Order: sequence, then structure tokens, then C-alpha cells
Amino acid sequence: MSDADEGILYVVATPIGNLDDLSPRAARVLAEVALVAAEDTRHTARLLRHLGIAPAMLSLHEHNEAARVDQLDARLVAGEAVALVSDAGTPLISDPGFVLVRELRARGRRIVPVPGACALVAALSAAGLPTDRFLFSGFLPAKGGARRARLEALAERDETLVFYESPHRIRDTLSDLAATLGARRVVLARELTKTFETFLEGSAEALLERLAEDPDQARGEFVIMVAGAAPREAGEAAAIEADALLAALLAEGVGVKQAAAVAARTLGGAKKAWYARAQALKDGD
Ligand code: SAM
Repeated sequence: MSDADEGILYVVATPIGNLDDLSPRAARVLAEVALVAAEDTRHTARLLRHLGIAPAMLSLHEHNEAARVDQLDARLVAGEAVALVSDAGTPLISDPGFVLVRELRARGRRIVPVPGACALVAALSAAGLPTDRFLFSGFLPAKGGARRARLEALAERDETLVFYESPHRIRDTLSDLAATLGARRVVLARELTKTFETFLEGSAEALLERLAEDPDQARGEFVIMVAGAAPREAGEAAAIEADALLAALLAEGVGVKQAAAVAARTLGGAKKAWYARAQALKDGD
């Protein structure tokens, strides 16, 4: 049975730079489907030309995605195979396709991934930061205030943090990283799979200096990876938990003495020490 069975939506990953990264299976699916739904048909036409094929194409981007659902579903119901591609990498990963896939899955259609390049996975695979757990946060907000707020909200996460970034904002983002997350290890993966592929690493501040010395390093496409927050010492974590309990009790109007008694009963330790801590919290220290 061929890979392009009928009535299937194939979600096909395409290269993020190096055309040799298109898998033979992806090439076969693109050649066999009745229709290719593409983020930008002119962009995808170049890839298809490179493959020597010319399937029918339809645009599917963030502005028309919802309106395309019924149209594409009708093709699947008619027994046709359709491929979804974005400009580069894996569709739906900071790219269109989520609404289509969600709706078609809700209608019980068969959706088959054809995996391949994805910038965040390529970047993590060569960065040397922990990959057992990571948090991909896509593109940070364009405006400085919202960007810093997003970073602050991630400051306590202990997984490796991964962001996409464009050359227009790379300096601003590095400078906000330095301000919000401090001197953690950052790895900047630039132009992956392309001629000027580079991995730079250091603190956000050191990387900013590097970009100032060599402006070419600020060109192209970036994946930013940041070491997660260092795990708290057990004592520090316990102190934070204790303070939270005392603060909650005080906020409820419980007196210092009673709050200290509850804390001592719940978390152990001397009532006298809890009293001192509760009093300090009440005094705003
Ligand atoms: N769907 C794509 C994927 O699977 O990675 C991502 C699409 S998103 C619109 C584009 C962003 O991905 C770029 O701004 C950059 O942050 C990252 N990116 C894509 N290609 C890259 C490459 N060759 N090198 C570094 N980052 C890349």
C-alpha cells in the first residue's frame, strides 16, 4: 500500500535550510497527494520544483486557516490525500496548522505526521544543555514590557528554556534575558543546517557583546536556549514553603502566636522560632 493512502491529511515536515533534509518519505507523499496545502504557495513551489514535481496547491496561512477547514475536509471525505506543509520545518510548531488539525481530528479524520526537520529539536540536539526536560515557549512577545513579563514568569522553571527569535529582536531579547534571568548559560543556535550555521554560548550579556563585536552574528534565524533555574537548596525551598504558609495565615487574620503554633504543628520546629518569623513577616521584613 502506498504512503499516500486516500482520505488522509499528512502533516509533512520540510527542511529548515538544507534541502537534503527532506526525507524520501516526505518527497514521496508530496508527489502522491491530490493537494498540498502550503503556508506560502510560492515558497513551497520552489521546494516542489527542486523535487521535480508539481502537485496542486492551496494556500493555508494564519489568516485563512479556519475558513479552509471545510474545504479541505471535503477533499478528505471524497477520499483524497492532502499534505499540509509550512514554509520551513514542522507545521504547527510556531507555524499554521493547529486549527486545521484540531478540527479535522474532532471530525474523526485520519491525520498522519511525516516527521523531519524542526529548528528547536535540531538546536537542542547539539547545544549541550539538558534535554531530558525542556520548555519550548515559541516566540517571545514583540513589546519589551510583555517580553520581560513572560521571562519573569519563566524565571523559576528548572527545565531548559527554548525560544524562537528573529534577527530584528535578537539584541533586545538577549538584553531582557540578562535583566530577568541573570548570568545563566545561554546557547544561541543560528542558521541551522545552512552555510553560516553557528552555535554561540555564554551569558546573555557576553553574547550581546559578541554580537556587538561581530554584527554578522546577529543575522539570520535563531533558536535561543537558556539553562533552567538552578534547583533550590532543600533548606531554601522549605523556607519559602514556610513563609507562604505563615503569610497565608496572617492574611486570613490569624494572630502571630496562633500562626506560629499552626506552622510548628504542620512543619515541625520550635514554636519560638516560628513566632519570630511570623512577627517579621507581619512587620514586612
Ligand atoms: N516550523 C518551524 C520549525 O519546525 O522549527 C519553525 C517556524 S517559525 C515561523 C520560524 C522560526 O524558527 C525562526 O524565526 C527561528 O527562530 C526558527 N528557525 C527556523 N529555521 C531555523 C534555522 N535554520 N536556524 C535557526 N532557527 C531557525
